[in-house]
Amino acid sequence: MRPLVIVSADCDNESSDSIKLQADYARAVYAAGGLPLVAVPSMECGDTTEAVAELCSLARGLVLTGGPDILPGLFGEEPHPKLGSVNPVRDQFELALARAAMQADLPTLAICRGMQILNVAAGGGLIQDIESCVPGAHAHRMAAPRWLPTHSISVVPGSILCRVFGRDSAMVNSFHHQAVHPVAPGFEVAARAGDGVVEAIEKAESRFMVGVQWHPEALAGRSPEALNLFREFVIAAQGVC
Ligand code: MN
Repeated sequence: MRPLVIVSADCDNESSDSIKLQADYARAVYAAGGLPLVAVPSMECGDTTEAVAELCSLARGLVLTGGPDILPGLFGEEPHPKLGSVNPVRDQFELALARAAMQADLPTLAICRGMQILNVAAGGGLIQDIESCVPGAHAHRMAAPRWLPTHSISVVPGSILCRVFGRDSAMVNSFHHQAVHPVAPGFEVAARAGDGVVEAIEKAESRFMVGVQWHPEALAGRSPEALNLFREFVIAAQGVC
């Protein structure tokens, strides 16, 4: 039986009357053997903490997806001039999801903004704009097809990612202008770009709690190792009682 996997969606910033999700997140979960369930951010329910905890108790895995920037006040900073659009409804919903997942040790694959949400939920911070804040950084927000790997990463030996890739380096796609820093307590860097930007984090002492800054869902149709990341995640979800 396929394990139920929550996939977080984006919502309309003004009215919350519509949701959106790139279908490849759910397709990659399904291709890896999971049963994706799209979760809708909402403030109409008031405090979402209880609903989110119930949702997480039904599911056996969580995918936090890509999207807009996180409100800097949530990690104790003022907004940088290069900050992009923000969505406070989605921020609150996904922070609650991330906290519930950590509390329940629910296997979690956090992608791009999802990794940043996971890091903020665990008490870490973000670089609000790589280009203006990281001297010598290379291009991380590429005008390129989503399936195209454009920069290399070094993978930390012994990490889950190293097991998935079977080696200590890889090429990844890149569509972000923010980055994780500092890494939250309890998490470790699992991969970095050549310029030092954090490209993956993992929570020690967890079934499977991995954040990646690239978009494996966009590579999964063409790259066995990208799909393998979803497979390892789904295998961990299958292990949840
Ligand atoms: Mn990158």
